[in-house]
Amino acid sequence: MPVLTDLLAALGAGRVEVVDLTSPLSQDTPVLQLPAPFANTISFRLEELSHYDDRGPAWYWNDIHTGEHTGTHFDAPVHWVTGREGEDVAQVAPGKLIAPAVVLDFADIADGDPDFLLGVEHVRAWESEHGPLPDGGWLLYRTGWDAHAASQDEFLNDGHSPGISVECARWLAEETSILGLGVETVGTDAGAAPGFEPPFPCHSFLLGAGKYGLTQLRNLAALPPTGVLLVATPLPIVGGSGSPARVLALVER
Ligand code: MN
Repeated sequence: MPVLTDLLAALGAGRVEVVDLTSPLSQDTPVLQLPAPFANTISFRLEELSHYDDRGPAWYWNDIHTGEHTGTHFDAPVHWVTGREGEDVAQVAPGKLIAPAVVLDFADIADGDPDFLLGVEHVRAWESEHGPLPDGGWLLYRTGWDAHAASQDEFLNDGHSPGISVECARWLAEETSILGLGVETVGTDAGAAPGFEPPFPCHSFLLGAGKYGLTQLRNLAALPPTGVLLVATPLPIVGGSGSPARVLALVER
């Protein structure tokens, strides 16, 4: 069956749309701020090498300065101590970078409550309407938080941003066969998660279970609840704990 021929025809005819879920990378891209004494990552920055000038008369190029966990990025299991024996970002099999995805939209609730936590009961209710979470696929969690991405202060919101409860993080890691969790916030955990027990439960349980994370996604509102094909493309940084990634969703129209 000429699957790829059919797919390319559908893309050309607009019957399959490519939705970019990636936040633009610039020096203004919000980055995580951990409290002292913990180390913090740098902001993204371009360092110009030449711009059609004496340093390179016919070419423009830059060095980039970035953290692994800057902007829309991929968390590999080895990012967390619970996953320290797991894969680094270069070891993730390419076949896992193209996978199904579902979108759990709780923006209506999270809009009025920046500390909203998704619970097992919310996921169960979603499943009763839309079917089970995808085996080997992404759970994309929409909160509407991408609307705050233009301002680092607003995006971090003094540690108040929506996330997932400890119980739900454990359940997703241990009782479901999802590939990973994608969110719109600066990390996969809630703003208040440093104070949870355990701290950062999504990182702790999901990465410990060999699952992945995707952060700072946008445009989830343009996706249907089910039937999404997700393409996530971290760089194969050897030994890396994560990488900025382009994340694209293929959607039937
Ligand atoms: Mn990260």
